[in-house]
Amino acid sequence: MKRILITGAAGFLGSHLCDRFIKEGYEVVGMDNLITGDLKNIEHLFKLKEFVFYHHDVSKFVHVPGTIDYVLHFASPASPIDYLKIPIQTLKVGSLGTHNLLGFALAKKARILVASTSEVYGDPLVHPQNEDYWGNVNPIGPRGVYDEAKRFQEAITMAYHTYHKLDTRIVRIFNTYGPRMRLNDGRALPAFVGQALRGEDITVFGDGSQTRSFCYVDDLVEGIYRLLMSDYVYPVNIGNPVEITIKQFAEEIIQLTGTTQKIIYKPLPQDDPKQRRPDISRAREILGWEPTVQREEGLKRTYTYFKSLSPEELTKSAHRFK
Ligand code: UDP
Repeated sequence: MKRILITGAAGFLGSHLCDRFIKEGYEVVGMDNLITGDLKNIEHLFKLKEFVFYHHDVSKFVHVPGTIDYVLHFASPASPIDYLKIPIQTLKVGSLGTHNLLGFALAKKARILVASTSEVYGDPLVHPQNEDYWGNVNPIGPRGVYDEAKRFQEAITMAYHTYHKLDTRIVRIFNTYGPRMRLNDGRALPAFVGQALRGEDITVFGDGSQTRSFCYVDDLVEGIYRLLMSDYVYPVNIGNPVEITIKQFAEEIIQLTGTTQKIIYKPLPQDDPKQRRPDISRAREILGWEPTVQREEGLKRTYTYFKSLSPEELTKSAHRFK
């Protein structure tokens, strides 16, 4: 039985990856410091003998007894309001955390896949973004703590590959949505759905003309699975190339939820990218992958999840840290 370490296991993407690898017949070792992750996302796995969990911060030395065949490094705050609140931890998990896991993978002779991001392209001047674009990042802006940590992550991962011959993979993840997003993580979808469910107005930042391209989580997990199993070591974009303005997106959520609330406009956060759409030619060619879940369907599934949350969870303040 193959054994995989998944960091950020209690988070949105990490928990879906745990489910997928359990389903594929792996023994899964989950690791999370539970700062932005939630055990609720993985509590259904604790009864399985194929699953173990370590409450640990990967910015500190990582040790797991026994063999490990694969490592997925998905630990990091990932929403703008999170990395604004905990900028140092964000920098540390992307840099020190990645270094620790690369060293760990080397010691275990494991293959490692690191979660990079479309944020390495910053506020992109090339559209759509392909993997050869070097990006337009403000290193000292509020998002720099995430963007530069992830850029460093890519650099050190390639260095381990070339210098130590470590078996590495890099996925650049574009906006992803689905069940288990944190309702109060500040991102557009949970923000809009939470507002609709609580009967509040829908807050669009700026004039809402900025664009994003939203990928359903199951599609993303499939792309990551294929990349891990491939022999391709350079970065690969995984995301849905269907682009939409944030205003249109807010209108879709209003329609989906049937809320009678209106859109209100708030200031655009600093360095908020004006446009974002992945060029997925590489993923198509190398992995034979492309998204299959239409936004209408994905949003329905996600809304069903949010509706199932308790009233306490819905009314929780805009943000929380334990
Ligand atoms: N956004 C918004 N209202 C909100 C939350 C987000 O208009 O309540 C906008 C945000 O300014 C950005 C887009 O939605 O332009 C996507 O934001 P998100 O935080 O989901 O992810 P990002 O792609 O910026 O990392």
